Amino acid sequence: MKTVIQNGMICDGSGHEPELKDILIENNRIAELASPGTFAGAEADIIDASGKIIAPGFIDVHAHGDKRKLRFRDRKSVLLQGITTEVDGNCGNSASCIPGECEGFSWKNPEEYANLINDLNVPVNTVVLAGHNSIRQHVMGSCPARPTDEELRTMQKLLEDSLSAGAAGWSSGLTYFPGKFADEEELKALSSVTAGSQKIYATHMRSEGDDLFAALEEAVHVAQAGSNRLQISHLKTIFPRNYHKIDHLLELIEQYRASGLEINADRYPYVYSSTRIGQVLPAPYDKMTDISEQLKNSEMFRKEITEALKNSPRDLATTILISENMTLAELAVQNGKSIEETCMEILMQSAEQSAAYLCMSEDNLKRILALSYVCAGSDGISCQLDDPESEGHPRAVGSFPRFYHLVSQICSVGEAVRKMTGLPATVFRIPERGFIRKNYIADLVIFDGEKLDSKAGFDRNNLLPCGIDRVIVAGKTAWNAAESEKIGHYGRYIAVN
Ligand SMILES: [Zn+2]
Repeated sequence: MKTVIQNGMICDGSGHEPELKDILIENNRIAELASPGTFAGAEADIIDASGKIIAPGFIDVHAHGDKRKLRFRDRKSVLLQGITTEVDGNCGNSASCIPGECEGFSWKNPEEYANLINDLNVPVNTVVLAGHNSIRQHVMGSCPARPTDEELRTMQKLLEDSLSAGAAGWSSGLTYFPGKFADEEELKALSSVTAGSQKIYATHMRSEGDDLFAALEEAVHVAQAGSNRLQISHLKTIFPRNYHKIDHLLELIEQYRASGLEINADRYPYVYSSTRIGQVLPAPYDKMTDISEQLKNSEMFRKEITEALKNSPRDLATTILISENMTLAELAVQNGKSIEETCMEILMQSAEQSAAYLCMSEDNLKRILALSYVCAGSDGISCQLDDPESEGHPRAVGSFPRFYHLVSQICSVGEAVRKMTGLPATVFRIPERGFIRKNYIADLVIFDGEKLDSKAGFDRNNLLPCGIDRVIVAGKTAWNAAESEKIGHYGRYIAVN
């Protein structure tokens, strides 16, 4: 099977600016690149890309597809952004590294999970990270204690098994349960499993604001105890009181990089974060796993939490409860109660409800996106495009188009594409992808460089990105704007060795 893509501007993922060239695809690979017209008359399917940019398929290094891709098998929210490969298992949560089940499927180990992904032909390729939270939960449940020697050995063994089955590395999420119970020693002991290898340590750090520098130091120590390769997940400085820390943060990262530690990062192009509403709780309540139950059972505790919320580390007034698409300030007015009491009542329903936090700076976002070592990453969880019930952050459907739109203006088209393709493939060591090169797998996206952007918001997280023309996975069209209802399932599990 041959395909020629002609008259398009090729942006090859290396950082070079787009160049007019034709591509010959044979079976699933890029067979040749040549000046326009070279393949005229070839017996092949012809795709005309006049006026369009052809880039390597985008690679989302910060995905949470794990079980979701088993449930929503068209993975539209991802594919329609031009993403052809996602790295799952971020922030410490990974389905593949422990036995699991979902939608009638089950797996006992990472190999079985990989086989399942291949059997289902999910539309986009899957790379996985092992997740510290998942492993700790599997071995120790919700126990806040340090692991015993035996528990630690069991966790190390699960991590080793996952890495030898092809996980690109491992991740932690140190603000979440039960990862927040782990101390640096536990993380270093796990990291030691990767020493001498190229397996990456990706971390959602213990603090992204008030204790940012201590958290960075911990991340560095953990990476140094292992492969010496660190990925800082969704790099940011949260809360206005910490915005100024960006200067020192970037200086420190530069110093570590100069000293030989490999540090890279990812970032979604939004200033709202999104996670569970339980994150509003100040210490020591932030470590309670049964907060809703306790609130339901005790009037005194309801009063205590209402009072404690005055010291929330988050700005409650601007926090959006996604199911209502209203801020807590708006909800408080509607209910005729204080913001704290309103928030307490929401926590009493469930601390797991989705919330969005306005906690980042636009200026810092632009500085971070421009850094040469920052990849695009969506941190997308769900959106209505896949799941009509979903209450999600627009990053789940708009991160890549928006990243391109912003970064192509701040840097250049070539640099924006590199940060979405070649850089992530290099950092996560994803073989034969991320670049338009002879013999590489033909994962490609064709788009209109002027139009590529996302208009999705919290109240409309089902809006398709604009500007994507066609997405090709392994040489075949997986989505085409002209036949927008059709999804091709050509994704594979990609082992990283
Ligand atoms: Zn995270």
